[in-house]
Amino acid sequence: MSAVSCESTLRLLREDLRDFAGYRSARSETAQGEIWLNANEAARAGSADPGGRLRRYPQPQPQSLRAALAQLYGTVPDRLLIGRGSDEAIDLLVRAFCRPGIDGVLIAPPVFGMYAVCARLQGARLVEAPLREAGDDFALDFVAAADKAIAQAAKLVFLCSPGNPVGGALPAESVIGLARRLRGRAIVVVDEAYVEFADADSLIAASAGEPNIVVLRTLSKAHALAAARIGCAIAAPAVIEALRRCQAPYPVPEPCAERALAALAPQALAATRTRVDEVRRERSRLAASLAEMADVRRVYPSQANFLLVRFADADSAYERLLAAGVVVRDMRAMPQLGDALRITIGTPEQNDAVLAALRAVEAAA
Ligand SMILES: *Cc1c(COP(=O)(O)O)cnc(C)c1O
Repeated sequence: MSAVSCESTLRLLREDLRDFAGYRSARSETAQGEIWLNANEAARAGSADPGGRLRRYPQPQPQSLRAALAQLYGTVPDRLLIGRGSDEAIDLLVRAFCRPGIDGVLIAPPVFGMYAVCARLQGARLVEAPLREAGDDFALDFVAAADKAIAQAAKLVFLCSPGNPVGGALPAESVIGLARRLRGRAIVVVDEAYVEFADADSLIAASAGEPNIVVLRTLSKAHALAAARIGCAIAAPAVIEALRRCQAPYPVPEPCAERALAALAPQALAATRTRVDEVRRERSRLAASLAEMADVRRVYPSQANFLLVRFADADSAYERLLAAGVVVRDMRAMPQLGDALRITIGTPEQNDAVLAALRAVEAAA
């Protein structure tokens, strides 16, 4: 990527932060020594941590984990920032690029709520280009979205692919086309929290030459590590550096980094692929069984680990599921989803419980 094209992206950074260096932690000092007395850490291990592993502050960006994640995602460490879940990356992007009260954040609802939450917290204007139902699925009008982003001065365009809660993946060529149209004006953020479950490839490889695309990945879903809070932003090195300057000094707790690294060992990755295959099989089975139910209006095609389902009587379906001890996500407050529930794919037994509870709805109806 040329320095010039990346410069057009860096110009999008908040002006007041352009020469901001962030916090200089003791860990970022380059001095070498045997006796480390520069960070006010405890000299002896505490009783909760007899081995003393947790006594010292962790590396701000643990090198081995960064390298392993870069390898997993087919990129290089310089293009990758580790954060506390991709949630933190969303927050950092909004804070680094949006001036409160001036810049906009474009979202395509119905979509994951964190983009709007972070925009609100930063005082960034929310601009909406809603997804529209087209055929049997939701689709984004990329031309309308670009027009709106330009007209309403959006600095960030958040796309979710596969989409939460709609489940479909966005066409890669359209995303790249959108980014090219917005180059120098806005950053296109592609949240790929569910891409491991999709037929489509990640955009990481295709976006390597695009200075204004940021891809978000996470270990929370396919890698079964939601509580470890490890997510990544992948972008041009200069963008990654800018985000890092806005981030907390030690964002990656050492025990979490260790578990994440274990999840990226070859055997663990093979087990992850097996679990993902099971989710994909169960997704087809559950979708087919649900589609046959009289009470089900529509099951949207899904590239993720959940199904979005419209019901003739969503209230009754939700209550019957609850009565059977099954908690699903009520989507009815979301725009365009007044009759919809989002059901995460569980184990085969759990999915059977979903079907049994909903068949009880049918029997009672
Ligand atoms: C679950 C989810 C995330 C959150 O990921 P973390 O890495 O756990 O913060 C991000 N984006 C979408 C669309 C999600 O559904």
